[in-house]
Amino acid sequence: MTGAIFDIQRFSIHDGPGIRTTVFFKGCPLNCIWCHNPEGISRAPLLSFRPALCIGCGFCFRTCPAGCHRMEGGKHLFDRERCEACGRCAAECYPGALELVGREESAAEIMREVLRDKAFYDNSGGGLTLSGGEPLMQPDFAFELLCAARDAGLHCCVETCGFAARAALDLVRPKTDLFLFDIKETDRARHAELTGKPNDRILANLRHLHGTGADIILRLPIIPGVNDRPEHFKGIAALARDLPGLKGVEIMPYHQLGENKVGRFGLDQSRRAKASAPEPGVVEGWTGELRRRGVNVLTA
Ligand code: SF4
Ligand code: SF4
Ligand code: SF4
Repeated sequence: MTGAIFDIQRFSIHDGPGIRTTVFFKGCPLNCIWCHNPEGISRAPLLSFRPALCIGCGFCFRTCPAGCHRMEGGKHLFDRERCEACGRCAAECYPGALELVGREESAAEIMREVLRDKAFYDNSGGGLTLSGGEPLMQPDFAFELLCAARDAGLHCCVETCGFAARAALDLVRPKTDLFLFDIKETDRARHAELTGKPNDRILANLRHLHGTGADIILRLPIIPGVNDRPEHFKGIAALARDLPGLKGVEIMPYHQLGENKVGRFGLDQSRRAKASAPEPGVVEGWTGELRRRGVNVLTA
């Protein structure tokens, strides 16, 4: 079996305990207006085009079978509508202006890469993290990868948006040491507005998972002007009170990395949140507010 992934990031230190390798799965059922990995939302590969890196060599013009690239008035124009993401032009693009993002790999291939850093995991209490996109969109592949990692003695984390089939969650649960469970907005209608889906299924899955005794950290992406509302913090506190087995919550302050990617991948800008990264003092304010409400915040 193979799975669709778009990145393997070594030496991650923010995706669970210790030093880890994070595998980013392609495909996500949500479409958050602040998404930091928008190239992970579609299951299919996407061509990234960064005109600033183009040296005008013309190789892509000759290579593309669909005629997507042309030069007009000294400007490299790319017709994304016709692109079939075959990757031929990217293979010819020496300076890396074109890059095909998304590939199929087997669990064995991924594990070969992951196990290169086994000594670091052993020394730091780290391991493997599945992220994305949404890893539970490919449950059988996620399960295969987790089984292989467990067999190799690795600590395994799954980062999920929680919008998944219950069967997928139950499948990976016994092979997962820690779930990093995203809660993006506690108000149902606002959740739908911000992510494209209401939060009922997510909250039901969270309660179910908690009921199984799984280790869970809630991850809270907080976007200034979008969900940094007192009502949301109050909602988080109520949720945490209801789930006493939680390991705690982590605040994930907004950063603007996703913004540049929107242009690179030709994605829809119109829905995107107009936000800036918060100042450190602002993040401390959020942390303080949650702590005052009794929430165990693990990061400042
Ligand atoms: S759940 Fe994550 S990957 Fe999916 S759209 Fe939201 S931020 Fe992006
Ligand atoms: S192959 Fe790359 S560098 Fe050459 S014209 Fe195409 S985009 Fe530009
Ligand atoms: S990925 Fe394939 S179809 Fe798309 S522009 Fe490149 S060569 Fe053409």
